[in-house]
Amino acid sequence: MQIAEARGVELNFTPRLLTEMFAETASRFGARPAIDFLGRITTYGELAGMIDRAAAGLQVLGVKPGSRVALCLPNITYYPVLFFATLKAGGTVVNVNPLYVERELRHLLVDSGADIIATCDIPDIHARVSHVAAELGLRHVITCPVAGALPGVKSVAYRLLKRRDIATIPAEPRQMRFADLVAGASAPQPVSVEPDAVAVLQYTGGTTGEPKAAMLSHANLVANADACYLHTGGAQRTEQDRVLGVLPLFHVFALTTVLTNAVRNGAEMILLPRFELRQVLDTIKRRRPTFFPAVPTIFNAIAGAAAKETVDMSSIHACISGGAPLPSEVRQAFERATGAKVVEGYGLSESSPIITCNPIIDGVNKTGSAGLPFPGTTIEIHDRDNPERLLEVGQIGEICARGPQVMSGYWNRPDATREVFSNGALRTGDVGYLDDEGYLFIVDRIKDVIIAGGYNVYPRVIEEALYEHPAVAEAVVIGVDDPYRGQAPKAFVTLVAGESATPEALRTFLSDKVSKIELPREIEIRETLPKTLIGKLSKKELVEEERAKAAKS
Ligand code: AMP
Repeated sequence: MQIAEARGVELNFTPRLLTEMFAETASRFGARPAIDFLGRITTYGELAGMIDRAAAGLQVLGVKPGSRVALCLPNITYYPVLFFATLKAGGTVVNVNPLYVERELRHLLVDSGADIIATCDIPDIHARVSHVAAELGLRHVITCPVAGALPGVKSVAYRLLKRRDIATIPAEPRQMRFADLVAGASAPQPVSVEPDAVAVLQYTGGTTGEPKAAMLSHANLVANADACYLHTGGAQRTEQDRVLGVLPLFHVFALTTVLTNAVRNGAEMILLPRFELRQVLDTIKRRRPTFFPAVPTIFNAIAGAAAKETVDMSSIHACISGGAPLPSEVRQAFERATGAKVVEGYGLSESSPIITCNPIIDGVNKTGSAGLPFPGTTIEIHDRDNPERLLEVGQIGEICARGPQVMSGYWNRPDATREVFSNGALRTGDVGYLDDEGYLFIVDRIKDVIIAGGYNVYPRVIEEALYEHPAVAEAVVIGVDDPYRGQAPKAFVTLVAGESATPEALRTFLSDKVSKIELPREIEIRETLPKTLIGKLSKKELVEEERAKAAKS
């Protein structure tokens, strides 16, 4: 039998700084559009100027190699500006989700040790950030204007936090606007930074315990941008590309497929501050993007709209789905309704993120597979009971990866770092197998596997079967306590607008598609299902609800 190990095509990769990558593009394509934010165009030349001024301003605030600067921003022009400005000043970007509640924000800021945070003037985000910043004694809160561009959103009044807001304040952070940061600043002082310096602290793993930060170096992120360039067509792709950026840039998937991918090639990023179906469809029509990375729930929503109206996606060279499994039914419905091609990729925060992707140019786009190893990447399947042992083709085990995009470890977490590597390969925490052509099939996340009566039940198998029902729009399966089997699957679904189905009908539908042990003990139909900010269906809330219910009964 063949050992389950597959290598991607060679990536002639030279480790370099993200700021060098940007500078090269700015010098080649200075007059070309870099960002379209709600119709407002910034060229690469203008962006370079803004980055320099912001970097000089950050240096005045004390940012230097080793400093951490938190970015708590939606997709606006200031995100790329402050991202590259932080790096140019020699600092590390701490990506923060603007929807985090105060407890989560506090954890990220304390854990990362960031003492400067940049946010926006949307009142509830600004209030949360300022409150936590004051409580923790951060030095500066930099506020970027965005509210004025959003219909119906008023900007905060910039004023220092009032002392009565907080019981004990070690030192009030200095509130400043982005305009104050760059006033009078011109060029930053050059700093000495190596490509293996940490560029980004990317927090992950919030579903179990507190999130920890993957340390992504300049070289890690440049490697994934270079691999993306090769995978999407290399020199055949041009600076004429337009990347639709609806996924949040603070998430690693968009950080690479939108931001660094566009910057690597001199392409234009069309940034949307949040996912609104109508706005996405209008933008596709008006701006005719060529590359569209998104998560399965977005493709599902577009497929639903395209079944009722014409959605012209002919400008799009490739839609890339990642972040979560793309159910085969969703892929087919999307491709049928829009005529566009969607390829599934796979990755995680720890690997900057992409490690596999289906072919975009030549080769088979296999349904149900997460594709072939990305350029420069090796995928191995390790025995879960004996992680040092490689399994054989077709056998299910833990997916492990090696490549220049893999992090060196977690920030300040030596134990977690030791555990996440097996013989030098990154353990993904996902189970899957390789076929004899080197395509990866992901079966599920290890932590979502349900142990029912001693058998491994993979929720994804049941979810896939539910998606085959014409009335099912979204499906999630979790494990719930069961007196006989220890655990049993329970399904939650939403229905397609205008369609109906009962839980009994769905159970009957499933009965010849899954085994008896996989048949959900209960199927609950809901109006909506919880999602993460990037749009992945989220199991955490449903698991907690079920636990609370069980504790009461
Ligand atoms: P994060 O680090 O938050 O981006 O989450 C990474 C996790 O998302 C992976 O470990 C997988 O469990 C999941 N994931 C990403 N892409 C896929 C995919 N194509 N199919 C299945 N799961 C995926």
